[in-house]
Amino acid sequence: MPNIVVIGAGVSGLTSALLLSKNPGYKITIIAKHMPGDFDIEYTSPWAGANYMPVSDLPNSKYERDTWPELARLAKDVPEAGIHFQQCVIYNRNKDPIPYSGPLPSELFTTSPWFKDLFPDFKLLDRSELPPGVDSGTSFTSVCLNLAIYLPWLAGQCLTNGVIIKRAVLKHISEASSLHHSRKKADLIVNCSGLLASKLGGVMDTDVVPVRGITILVRNEAGAMYCSSGTEAGPDQSMYIMTRAAGGGTILGGTYQKGNWTPTVSDEEATAIMQRAVKLCPQLTNGKGIEALSVIHKRVGLRPLRQEGLRLVKERIGENWVVHNYGHAGWGYQASYGCSQRVKEIVDSISTSQAKL
Ligand code: FAD
Repeated sequence: MPNIVVIGAGVSGLTSALLLSKNPGYKITIIAKHMPGDFDIEYTSPWAGANYMPVSDLPNSKYERDTWPELARLAKDVPEAGIHFQQCVIYNRNKDPIPYSGPLPSELFTTSPWFKDLFPDFKLLDRSELPPGVDSGTSFTSVCLNLAIYLPWLAGQCLTNGVIIKRAVLKHISEASSLHHSRKKADLIVNCSGLLASKLGGVMDTDVVPVRGITILVRNEAGAMYCSSGTEAGPDQSMYIMTRAAGGGTILGGTYQKGNWTPTVSDEEATAIMQRAVKLCPQLTNGKGIEALSVIHKRVGLRPLRQEGLRLVKERIGENWVVHNYGHAGWGYQASYGCSQRVKEIVDSISTSQAKL
């Protein structure tokens, strides 16, 4: 009967705990410094868009591929999860370097990506549908998540399955082993500490760096999700738009600034993003300028990029088995169920081998 402590209540920790909790033999405690409802620059999950726009290449596509069926099921059958279907329009400019790649080459902007088979309505855009300066484009129906609804819903699903959620700030990962709600020593720790994996004792993964993303949330609606491979403003500026489910507003993004921890948005940065959004998607303001945008807030989130790639492996630290699941950069939601399924497989194999001892 393994006692498991999951570190982290972002999308990675909550989804890992949720899938593990489907095994009634697992007794799970989530320990976290930040919870759904908190807004802190160290806690990435509330600041995402978030949508499902796959960025992996074919050899690395498993986690995103395995996540799509569950996000689509939630959008179709579980309205209280705060996810809806939305048309996704991708614009590619041949002159842009491959964006959002992190350690992976991105297939999002190619005309024949691996994920075309996931979406029955995937199509290449006709030349007449492309804005000036765009060389090719694709369209398909994907999903967009309202995180103000989805993160509390995920936590609620964990509570329904008997997971105990507690606040704690760990200096060293080994402290987690004495924080199981049973007061017995934990048999296993799952580490979903996101960006703070770079600061957590016993992990101290200096390969994890922030990628600064500015988002502006507006009341205006875009009618579809849009994403462009680049902008005229430089390689650390990006362009995406998505309208969240259930009145969650429309996200205008953004930036992709590696190693930048700045938590605030300047007026110049915000104006540039809003101008690009209105130019690419004039229906946002019915053809008017940025003065017709109704701004809810301007915020910064830090994507937890691990430059060598996602860390999803087991490791023996002191007396504990630890399963790491961190470093999801800008795709933590769209790979969440695939990665958490892998966490569960590793946990199952550790507990099976411990049971034989
Ligand atoms: P976090 O959400 O940061 O959670 C980490 C958890 O660990 C927190 O609860 C924290 O308190 C806890 N923790 C850490 N250290 C300690 C400690 N020492 N003691 C106790 N607790 C600790 N992804 C998508 O899939 N689609 C998108 O459209 C998308 N858009 C994005 C747009 C922006 C602007 C940004 C910033 C990100 C976007 N992402 C998107 C990426 C996504 O948000 C992240 O990959 C994801 O949120 C990472 O989640 P996480 O659970 O790993 O980390």
